[in-house]
Amino acid sequence: MRHTWWSWHAWVAGGLALSLVGAVVLARLELNVLREAFETDARIVHRLLSQRVLQHDAVLATLALLQPASGTTPDAAPEQRLPALYPQMLSVKRLAPGATWGEPALDQAHARSSASHRPELANAELAQGRYRLVMAAPPSGHTLLIDAKAMVPWDDWPMDVATSPVAVWLVHAEQRLVLQPGSPAAATPSEHGWTYVFHKRLAADSQPFDVVAQRHVGWAELPWPGILAWLVLVWAAVLGAVQVQRQRAGRQRAEALLRLDQVARLNTLGELAAGMAHELNQPLTAVLANTQAARRLLAEDPPELEVARNAMHQAAEQARRAADVLGRLRRSIERPDQQRTTKAIDLGAAIDRALYLLEPESTRRQVVITRDTPLGVTAWADPVALDQIIHNLLMNALQALERVPTSERTLRLVTTLHGGEASLQVIDSGPGIAPDDLARLFEPFFSTREGGLGLGLSLSESLAHGMGGRLAAAAHAPRGAAFTLVLPTGPQTA
Ligand code: ADP
Repeated sequence: MRHTWWSWHAWVAGGLALSLVGAVVLARLELNVLREAFETDARIVHRLLSQRVLQHDAVLATLALLQPASGTTPDAAPEQRLPALYPQMLSVKRLAPGATWGEPALDQAHARSSASHRPELANAELAQGRYRLVMAAPPSGHTLLIDAKAMVPWDDWPMDVATSPVAVWLVHAEQRLVLQPGSPAAATPSEHGWTYVFHKRLAADSQPFDVVAQRHVGWAELPWPGILAWLVLVWAAVLGAVQVQRQRAGRQRAEALLRLDQVARLNTLGELAAGMAHELNQPLTAVLANTQAARRLLAEDPPELEVARNAMHQAAEQARRAADVLGRLRRSIERPDQQRTTKAIDLGAAIDRALYLLEPESTRRQVVITRDTPLGVTAWADPVALDQIIHNLLMNALQALERVPTSERTLRLVTTLHGGEASLQVIDSGPGIAPDDLARLFEPFFSTREGGLGLGLSLSESLAHGMGGRLAAAAHAPRGAAFTLVLPTGPQTA
């Protein structure tokens, strides 16, 4: 009983663990794939934008090198062709030698550039998507007005701008230019799910803008079909295993019951033998009577030979038949492989076995079973005989309980150690035993049950006696019967 309970729960626990581990592994794998794709895309975006801003530096450096010959008007200068080549360059201006830009932001950037010898940022209005670069090339200088959005190489862009869940921004001093909106959750990620962030400054020092990419993965994006398939697989396996287990338990139970039944039949034979021996008294008496009669007839003068011969014949006939019956019985009873062996047996474990075998019976009758069977109550007994006795007592109790309403069916099992003896009490709340019947319970063939053989208790008592123990019955207040099996705790000296 405990055995099946345990294994059933173990399978369910195992199934739960497998489901959980599998689901986590699948989710993890998917999240890894999403994260790697996100990081790869973000790195590509960073590289593309870095190339563009470095281009601006290169253009300005080249312009600084290519100082126009004096006297050329700014408009005729070759740099005016740049906006046609680079759509992000909205305008290019050259400073007249010795002049100032006449705009504080540009003049300051010019001064910084003179010191650093590289382009410097002015009027960075990133939120509007515009900024200027100034490069001093004494005595002159250049400025580029750049459209930040137009510098994005959309042809090489790794994502679909309209549908990608990834948000991409250019960030500079609290200003933010949205290059790709991403999903609503990417901009304001919720607590539920996973948020990936990529944050890296562009490669050109002159344009210290940060590329920020953000992606939010919600629960809905986990690989649910895969997880569901896994769960179905696991639970189908668990169900199959439980089914197989149950079938095997059922088979084992049936086999054990069959074994008990065989033992019972064998012992019943023993009981029958006792009855038969009693029956044999009659032919033996007839043999005796016939031989005595023959002796008397032979002693007469003249002897009644014919009648005496007939009496002797009868006697021999009866004797042969009696011998035949006895021989056949003895052969069927005295089987050398059925020799009894006694050893120490835990009563609690024996009860476990019997309850397990009778589980279908007790469940069907809805009997509430309570037990007070501590560990270590050990009896010295023959295991097969002990199983047989307990089985009989429990079966009797279950049958008795059938005669009371379902709600009143209780069965209590108590084991105790006392004075060198171990005892087992089987107490039921059935109809109990009529006082007149109490004295006859252990007689062979006494039964009040319809279809009962009346051999169970007499057999159990003989078995108990055979092991140096005893079996007793009593009424149990307020109602029901109590059977007590007492067994020695150690080997019996003959
Ligand atoms: P059977 O069960 O075949 O009748 P048993 O020897 O096992 O044979 O039982 C003999 C009789 O003892 C039963 O018919 C029944 O009247 C009585 N008996 C046994 N156990 C109980 C019990 N727990 N409660 C009431 N009566 C019982």
